[in-house]
Amino acid sequence: MKENDSKRILVTGGAGFLGSHLCDYLLAKGHDVLCVDNFYTGSKRNIAHLLVHPRFELLRHDVTFPLYVEVDEIYNLACPASPVHYQNDPVQTTKTSVHGALNMLGLAKRLKAKILQASTSEVYGDPQIHPQDECYWGHVNPIGLRSCYDEGKRCAETLFMDYRRQHKLSVKIARIFNTYGPRMHPNDGRVVSNFIMQALAGQPLTVYGDGAQTRSFCYVGDLIDGLYRLMESPDGFCGPVNLGNPVEHTMVELAERVIAMCGSGSDIVFQPLPSDDPVRRRPDIALARDMLGWEPAVGLADGLERTIDYFRRLQGGGVQEEETAPPYLPQEHAMQEQRLHG
Ligand code: NAD
Ligand code: UDP
Ligand code: UDP
Repeated sequence: MKENDSKRILVTGGAGFLGSHLCDYLLAKGHDVLCVDNFYTGSKRNIAHLLVHPRFELLRHDVTFPLYVEVDEIYNLACPASPVHYQNDPVQTTKTSVHGALNMLGLAKRLKAKILQASTSEVYGDPQIHPQDECYWGHVNPIGLRSCYDEGKRCAETLFMDYRRQHKLSVKIARIFNTYGPRMHPNDGRVVSNFIMQALAGQPLTVYGDGAQTRSFCYVGDLIDGLYRLMESPDGFCGPVNLGNPVEHTMVELAERVIAMCGSGSDIVFQPLPSDDPVRRRPDIALARDMLGWEPAVGLADGLERTIDYFRRLQGGGVQEEETAPPYLPQEHAMQEQRLHG
């Protein structure tokens, strides 16, 4: 550990959507950041503005291979998150989740460093209880197209808990629910970026299935704040803890809202539902409220507005990364503190 409170922090997957926002956030808190990424789905554009930062360092590396560096804390985010991308090379997805987790845990063990895992609501699979709380063991197909991701992330959680029990490692597990915001890749394939890109281009919005399936969308700034609070939480608390926005929407509702907000004349077209697509998803965030004093502050209308603005400017070539970073308006979190703690 360095002398003052500032730490050297490793962010794997740091050039991705969430990872790049986390790098911004940690630097703003005064920490040194080592970003490790193999650029599988991440982009240099996401971190271009940080390359000149004196406390930022970038290392191109695939976490399925061992990594020897010296840090105080590790956020393990490396893994493609969009179904389109994680199904493109499913064996690599499992390797990234499982071998990547093992290597980062080995690194944390050697350094006696605290380590946080970016897990996912996908560990609940197509859930049979609603909303999902952390006690639910899930309903997951072990052999389907989504299994490389779902089972990979479940195995990673197992490894984290076993390193905690067997090696007394300080671990934290966040189960992240659908998160969106600026810096999602325009071709990411996830629903929010797809709908916005389609609406802005005046193309039909592709709703899969009948569009009655639900998701709950969390704005990126809220999510990053939740990850940081989890890392900072007392040693005895390791989670898993759900981080997500508990307001649930159908995909048709989302499509209609995006069309209206973009002022677009696009239609909606219905396409086949991908296999094992979960029917309903909504986090129970009571544990995060109690243990982290956390709840989302940015509603869907506000978050979509910022995201649409980002994609508009991206299309027009007008995105300056400094402009979009960081999206953490201090007053939002002041308001949140006020609501939670009076
Ligand atoms: P993303 O695809 O934008 O970012 C993932 C990053 O990991 C990319 O920069 C990619 O290049 C990198 N990466 C992939 N494989 C790697 C490897 N083998 N070695 C090194 N780097 C590698 O996705 P994201 O939305 O930012 O997700 C980040 C993390 O959060 C992932 O672990 C994901 O599973 C988790 N998560 C995200 C969401 C969400 O809605 N965004 C929901 C649940 C969980
Ligand atoms: N590891 C790593 N960096 C380190 C220490 C370990 O990447 O600084 C890797 C190591 O190569 C191994 C994994 O982490 O594959 C697990 O390490 P651990 O020491 O827990 O287990 P072991 O090496 O005994 O299998
Ligand atoms: N979806 C959709 N149209 C798209 C992309 C996704 O209707 O262009 C649906 C998808 O079938 C799922 C939901 O939107 O029901 C969320 O998909 P996403 O890939 O964003 O994340 P998931 O929660 O499925 O991992």
